[in-house]
Amino acid sequence: MTDKDPFDFDFFSERDFGDENDHLSASLPSLFPPFPSAWIAPQQDEKWDRRFLELARHISSWSKDPSTKVGAVIVDIDRIVVGMGYNGFPRGVRDDPDRYNDRETKYSLVVHAELNAVLAAGIQARGSTIYVYPSFGIPPLCTNCAKAVIQAGITRVVGYEPAVNSAVAERWRSEIETARLMCDEAGLRMTSHAEFA
Ligand SMILES: [Zn+2]
Repeated sequence: MTDKDPFDFDFFSERDFGDENDHLSASLPSLFPPFPSAWIAPQQDEKWDRRFLELARHISSWSKDPSTKVGAVIVDIDRIVVGMGYNGFPRGVRDDPDRYNDRETKYSLVVHAELNAVLAAGIQARGSTIYVYPSFGIPPLCTNCAKAVIQAGITRVVGYEPAVNSAVAERWRSEIETARLMCDEAGLRMTSHAEFA
């Protein structure tokens, strides 16, 4: 199995398009191979999943919430990032520490990372994958974010296997269960990877 970077030019020039890609190479000049979505080996999915999960982890650090920092990245079928988000108050709304430190005020003002990413991606979210860090469950979505993700046309949700303390897990349990029910019925693929492989 190849472990080459599909964006590496050498990978394109060395690639043999002779077998399963016959139908593609027949109509395309060899200098212009099809986009990754057309031919990428499934084995490479996990490598890219981990890259985008690490990006979501990085983006989570931008949140000003002192207790919960979540990051989300939306990626289209050609692995182009079309939206990013972290949990925070709406643009222009004063995000003072005193508001974050009062749980009730924070909950009423905050926009979740996933919803921010969906809003940023707009129409480009159709057919895309959303990566969320950290995971409180599978899928790593609350009910409202699951609704937004489904309605935006996102088809796959990826997170690490949940690794949260039991109090946090309990707080999110019913939210995650409902989100899972909706994602199941709506036909979204849910993928989780061990965080430390
Ligand atoms: Zn949410």
